[in-house]
Amino acid sequence: MRQHVLRAVTESKTLRQCRTTPINPEVEVRAGDGGAYLGGLMKCASVWSCPCCAASISVQRAQELRDISVECLRSGGTVLMGLFTVPHGKKDHLSETWDAVSKSWTAVWNGRHREKAAGKWGAVGAVRALEITHGRHGWHPHIHYLVFSDRVLSDAEIDDFRAWLFARWSSVVVKRGWFSPDSRGQGLERAVSAEKASEYLVKAEAYGAALETVSGQLKHSQSDSGRAPFQILDSIRLYCRSQDLVLWREYESASKGRRQLTWVNGKRVKERWSPDAPELSDEDAVESMEEEKGALLAKVAPPLWKAVLKLRAEYSVIALAGSRDSQPRKWGAFLDLCDIASRDGPLSDYGLETESWETALEMVLEM
Ligand SMILES: [Zn+2]
Repeated sequence: MRQHVLRAVTESKTLRQCRTTPINPEVEVRAGDGGAYLGGLMKCASVWSCPCCAASISVQRAQELRDISVECLRSGGTVLMGLFTVPHGKKDHLSETWDAVSKSWTAVWNGRHREKAAGKWGAVGAVRALEITHGRHGWHPHIHYLVFSDRVLSDAEIDDFRAWLFARWSSVVVKRGWFSPDSRGQGLERAVSAEKASEYLVKAEAYGAALETVSGQLKHSQSDSGRAPFQILDSIRLYCRSQDLVLWREYESASKGRRQLTWVNGKRVKERWSPDAPELSDEDAVESMEEEKGALLAKVAPPLWKAVLKLRAEYSVIALAGSRDSQPRKWGAFLDLCDIASRDGPLSDYGLETESWETALEMVLEM
């Protein structure tokens, strides 16, 4: 499991504590609409490095972008999907290329340029997602972005806008001391649906799919697409190579404190096409996705929870709670164990032939 690998390799205490450290003395096993889950655990809300929190945040952000895109298209606007990349080499440090890409994006939309895009192409605002992959040519930070225009743009106008955006991008990247970007690596296309637009920005990457790209000019070449960071975690689990560990740690440290989604005139875009949507931070997004208050099935007190973590049995406990009706004996034995743990009594008092919570839990899970 990615979360387990992450806990073993991360240098961040917060990441290690995510979904392992209880907020209250007892961890809750609950039954929600989507099945059993564990509640009352700390969440790190890291959109970059935590597979679970990133997935929750992505679902929320995809929904927000879909809602805006639906309204924009419905009211006669155009949503454009764009890609910006910078030339990069094997020896480039991730934090440096990340800075270059991120600061160049801000510079593209500075002052009068923003006004020009608004006047000439009806661009009310834009949003960018920064994505990272690692391939043959090293780290490849790149930007996927959406531009929301308040009118229908013709193909010729989009061609014109693309050329202008590329010229802007090229100029700001070169000004920062980088080589001139290859025009083939940049693109701008009309989004055919709100769904496509939101997927383009917030991808299934968080769920483990390879970095997918859309058709035509927005496609990365095979050699450029490389591995997404969570796929590096997968490689650590599969092959245990130090190279991957070094890459993961560089990524973890370079991503610290960075924003994944950044808006240009975000307020104006939201006021126009999604005025009622609440403003949710990443922390709020994780909570709203996960803290549904399903029925409480069991409480797991510290001695038993420690055993669950030691055995990496969180998912076995969730699975057991999910199948409690078909496995009543096993579930009953788990509830007995929860009861003993909550009284903090020695296991022998309850007729078990062991004093080890791990052994007791193993016996229940293997029933
Ligand atoms: Zn987390």
